[in-house]
Amino acid sequence: MSAVLELDGVSKTYPGGVTALRGASMRLEEGELAAIVGPSGSGKSTMLHLMGALDRPTTGRVLVNGHDVGSLSDRRLSAVRAWWIGFVFQQFHLSDGLTALDNVMAAQVYRGVPARRRRGEAEAALERVGLAHRADHLPTELSGGEKQRVAIARAVVTRPVLVLADEPTGNLDSGSGARVLSLLRELNAEGATVVLITHDAAIAASVPRRLEMLDGRVRRDVTA
Ligand code: ADP
Repeated sequence: MSAVLELDGVSKTYPGGVTALRGASMRLEEGELAAIVGPSGSGKSTMLHLMGALDRPTTGRVLVNGHDVGSLSDRRLSAVRAWWIGFVFQQFHLSDGLTALDNVMAAQVYRGVPARRRRGEAEAALERVGLAHRADHLPTELSGGEKQRVAIARAVVTRPVLVLADEPTGNLDSGSGARVLSLLRELNAEGATVVLITHDAAIAASVPRRLEMLDGRVRRDVTA
């Protein structure tokens, strides 16, 4: 197996002086499903942002598919995100003025996929999450669980190697949350490497690997 993601002695100090990570290290192989857990403020979101090339480490190295995020230009970082990574956030981050279909299609624009193919692929991705019948609806016309499934369709329409989810079930009722989690598991079974932050102990206990954060470090790395 090859490493999709590698963090080596990573620290992150934000402008203003807060140090959110202090020497975090981990390695994630292709096809893994891992949960990041830990108390609020322990550095979970910061670590996920660095894993997703949304930000650069202050010291240490973050390698995505073998590429050192710290040494890439902003343009190359955008390309890493667009080609390899799918993001799912607790607050969905859908564009309110766009239909479900257009939200999913937007993920393909950066990659220069022709419009007709974009539409076909976006329709297939919505079908995949069970929302083909809601394609023409605006986010305001969808439930929380449906919005998160649109966000998942948007994350995976590009067939990313890595799916990063920041509390994807945090705003959902338990039924919708279970559906979102089972979609993430299915994507993982189909080959995507998946990392999710969760506060839900049952979810954390149910995934193959658990990274426990404390004070900006990976304090325990538990494989079931
Ligand atoms: P968690 O996800 O475990 O709650 P975070 O990574 O969000 O932890 O935060 C770790 C620490 O970094 C906290 O003290 C938080 O206030 C701080 N922090 C997070 N993001 C920023 C930011 N953009 N600017 C300044 N400080 C931040």
